[in-house]
Amino acid sequence: MTYDVHIIGGGLAGTEAAWQLGKRGFKVRLSEMRGTGERSPAHQGDGLAELVCSNSLRSDDDTANAVGLLHYEMRALDSLIMRAADKARVPAGSALAVDRDVFSDTIEAELTALPNLTLTRERVDTLPDTGLTIVATGPLTAASLAEKIGAATGADSLAFFDAIAPIVYAETVNMDIAWRAARWDKGAEASIALGSDGKDYINCPMNKAQYLAFREELLSGEKTVFKEWEANTPYFDGCMPIEVMAERGEDTLRFGPMKPVGLDDPRTGRWPYAVVQLRQDNKLGTLFNMVGFQTKLKYAEQTRVFRMIPGLENAEFARLGGLHRNTFLNSPTLLDRQLRLKSSPHIRFAGQITGCEGYVESASVGMLAGIMTACELAGRDWAEPPRTTALGALLAHITGDAEADTYQPMNINFGLFPPIVTEKKIKKPARKLVYTERAKGDLAPWVAQITA
Ligand SMILES: Cc1cc2nc3c(=O)[nH]c(=O)nc-3n(C[C@H](O)[C@H](O)[C@H](O)COP(=O)(O)OP(=O)(O)OC[C@H]3O[C@@H](n4cnc5c(N)ncnc54)[C@H](O)[C@@H]3O)c2cc1C
Repeated sequence: MTYDVHIIGGGLAGTEAAWQLGKRGFKVRLSEMRGTGERSPAHQGDGLAELVCSNSLRSDDDTANAVGLLHYEMRALDSLIMRAADKARVPAGSALAVDRDVFSDTIEAELTALPNLTLTRERVDTLPDTGLTIVATGPLTAASLAEKIGAATGADSLAFFDAIAPIVYAETVNMDIAWRAARWDKGAEASIALGSDGKDYINCPMNKAQYLAFREELLSGEKTVFKEWEANTPYFDGCMPIEVMAERGEDTLRFGPMKPVGLDDPRTGRWPYAVVQLRQDNKLGTLFNMVGFQTKLKYAEQTRVFRMIPGLENAEFARLGGLHRNTFLNSPTLLDRQLRLKSSPHIRFAGQITGCEGYVESASVGMLAGIMTACELAGRDWAEPPRTTALGALLAHITGDAEADTYQPMNINFGLFPPIVTEKKIKKPARKLVYTERAKGDLAPWVAQITA
């Protein structure tokens, strides 16, 4: 069969993209390497859309949870992943957990029932020179193709490991203790040109006792271990886990990522013993990145240990840190707003390889890539999802709003949404409800437009 679009990768993103195109009548070729005797080190079987680890698509609460809202939005667009998840659902409280075999079988059955879709079990080793293509080969893209993607995008733009530093919601930092300033009070000209006052960092000060106690907890805190096939993970300069750096000596951190020089604490007029600097991570200014604090500490330990940092005692984290094998692009620089490779616009990327993180996020980006491609094939204008929706917030983050130089995989979270400004601060959980209701209100007309 000749085809309108070639989708490479039959995981969460590729199958959703294939569904969105196939059900609209476009001819799709879906290439999946599993089934040829080859698998990534994380996949166990040959079924499409295999859940490689947990069987949970996380919270299904669309009133107070950002991923639950993403479920709602995907259901509104007849997502195959959500349809299969609803069919395969097993009891798990407010979480959407599934029987992974029923889930995968449902997806494969629905796709192979489409007369205009060809599922080919093959490993694709090159990026096609022509023809609309969606690359959805995931965090463990086969090496040969990854090499070609690296050659097409530039070696610095394709990562093979992530080094995820935690991100905090700016509004949860205690600014009675932390303060905003740049080192030596030198606001970079580039950021002043962007309208900043130059006080770009949030600085959290530590005295000696606090620093030593913090270092001790970094060293003794419980860590996750690398999977067997990740065990030889190389640490690149600047990507070393914070606890590994702490091991090197008592003062290594305060001469490195926690150095206090040039940072006068306004409460004392002096440099603290050590400082944790947080850097703005999105254009909205709602998220701040603990640059350099990538870690293998377990999630609960991270929350406990990082809340020891003065100013972060009540911090809430939009993302916690990690280090994994993970193939992903520097999407904010490489992709346009429609997920197309700027240098080869016939190629779209979708799923985790774009730098989103998680089953649901990967599927949602696959869904967007599928609908965008369908619009292109039909000669229709694409309309971006409103940024107040989970789909719009995630897409905007990936395709330009995230800081490119610290770009690391990101889950959907309310920090990616334009803040709601009211005279009186709305308290949680009412605040989350305001976000989800705004999103649902803005989603409906967009869905009507995009599916008309
Ligand atoms: C070990 C591990 C555990 C994870 N655990 C979770 C979790 O518990 N919860 C969560 O939400 N997220 C988890 N993730 C993150 C992520 O959301 C999932 O990996 C998700 O499956 C990504 O979806 P995707 O479609 O982008 O990639 P995938 O689902 O991996 O799909 C990519 C597909 O492309 C195929 N492929 C690769 N290269 C080629 C090629 N050259 N030619 C043809 N086919 C190819 C692969 O076989 C695969 O089927 C985990 C990731 C990893 C690596």
